[in-house]
Amino acid sequence: MTLTRPASLTDAFLQRLVSRVPSTSGGTWKLTEVYTGEVLVELPQSTPADIEAAYAVARTAQRAWAARPLSERLAVFKRAHTLFLDNAQTTTDLIQAESGKNRRMAIEETCDPVMVMSHYLKRAPKLLAPVKRGGPVPFLSSSTEIRQPKGVVGIIAPWNFPFATGISDSISALMAGNAIVLKPDNKTALSPLYGIEMLEEAGLPKGLFQVVCGEGPDVGPTLIDNANYVMFTGSTATGRVIGERAGRNLIGCCLELGGKNPMIVLEDADLDEVVQGALFGAFGNTGQICMHIERMYLPASRYAEFREKFVAATEALTIGASYDFGPDMGSLVSPDHKDRVASHVEDAVAKGATVLTGGRARPDLGPAFFEPTILEGVTRDMLCGVTETFGPVVALHSYDTVDEAVALANDTDYGLNASVWGGDLATACQVGRRIESGNVNVNDILATAFASKGTPSGGVKQSGVGARHGDQGLLKYTDVQNLAVLKKQVMGARPGQDYDAYVKSMIGGLRMMRKTRIR
Ligand code: NAD
Repeated sequence: MTLTRPASLTDAFLQRLVSRVPSTSGGTWKLTEVYTGEVLVELPQSTPADIEAAYAVARTAQRAWAARPLSERLAVFKRAHTLFLDNAQTTTDLIQAESGKNRRMAIEETCDPVMVMSHYLKRAPKLLAPVKRGGPVPFLSSSTEIRQPKGVVGIIAPWNFPFATGISDSISALMAGNAIVLKPDNKTALSPLYGIEMLEEAGLPKGLFQVVCGEGPDVGPTLIDNANYVMFTGSTATGRVIGERAGRNLIGCCLELGGKNPMIVLEDADLDEVVQGALFGAFGNTGQICMHIERMYLPASRYAEFREKFVAATEALTIGASYDFGPDMGSLVSPDHKDRVASHVEDAVAKGATVLTGGRARPDLGPAFFEPTILEGVTRDMLCGVTETFGPVVALHSYDTVDEAVALANDTDYGLNASVWGGDLATACQVGRRIESGNVNVNDILATAFASKGTPSGGVKQSGVGARHGDQGLLKYTDVQNLAVLKKQVMGARPGQDYDAYVKSMIGGLRMMRKTRIR
């Protein structure tokens, strides 16, 4: 099959995008079109000295940016909102070429930064406004909570949603007055580079948003050691490394990590709706969504019916390489990742699991394709029983009681996302509250939680520390300055004063503070 690459992806355009990545060594990495394995562009690889230089430029730009009125900073994002929507098709072309995902998922990814901009454009003025509070001495003192930017934020992004994680997580940081040094995954650096180009076209000062590229362990230490805060999205294993280093440097970090997300179907659920949800939950983005579903729990009474419908719907999915909306499912991100996914299925089968459908790589479609796969009989001694597969592979389980289903759902080190399906919403919500998970979607897989930008979204247990979105999604990029003013020196004893009288008046004052509203 011949694949026509989108006209937008000219060599000149790709060269222009990567030209902002510093590399004094001249080293490059071959960034490929996933569908074909053909090289799209040579991506410069940054040395530690390049990273330090990027921080120096960002730090200078940050001081000027933070000094600008908030309204001016926000105006950049109002213009960017329009530009991002106007250019969504080009962004989609880039995301598809570098990640191999299907077009539906790629275009949906382009919506995320726009939604984040929209939310914080409305919320940032309130969050960043100084808050005046009472001081210890009524009328004579005050304390004001002032939000100062951290400085330069290092962002490390994964390949599965490169545009969303690379750009969305920078928006609130920039609004708060910070600069960014972003390290995207080598495989998927193009779409975030395009996002930065659009931000600059919207008026973001040059130099404020730096990009460095390289393999994680090569780039990571210098990136973290120069940052005032680190925003990391990726695997739990890498998150631990990042968190340790940030801890040593006494800087804050937000870690958005992996999951082994469960779905519980209750007796009264509409199974046809569940099947549609399950298709997306298991196979959306070719199973490479951190919040996607790898474990499904069905009541024993409805297991056979669900299995039949879900297997039939899965077998009707189309898979393929295409830049149009044809295929229901695209490729995995790389041949290496395909081998990892295949190894999870092989291990499960060797230990007694049954493949209900799928289970094979599809080299006829491209170097990294793998069939949507449903397994039965998966146990905890299998790789895919406990660790994240991060591919289009899902295990079906049946349960007898809701307590058992909740216990099984919670029987994991992870706690990123869960999905509960039921006809009675109150009951479904009650079940949801019992799941140890940072996000729980009732009658949906993940989009309802993730698109609710006003509510923090993060993982518990081994799925993360901190959250994106909500007020904390912006406030985490700030330090609090407590600006306290005393109009007259009236507190504290002075040498030679009558200490009995001093203690009396202090105790009297404390009693009065408790009784009045004065703090
Ligand atoms: P990964 O941890 O291998 O890599 C993520 C990023 O970290 C990449 O840019 C990589 O180059 C970099 N990196 C790797 N080692 C590093 C090191 N020692 N120092 C600094 N940086 C380093 O993860 P991945 O395979 O790219 O992404 C998939 C994982 O990300 C899955 O586990 C998925 O669940 C998770 N994820 C989580 C969320 C979330 O919001 N919780 C979102 C998307 C993906």
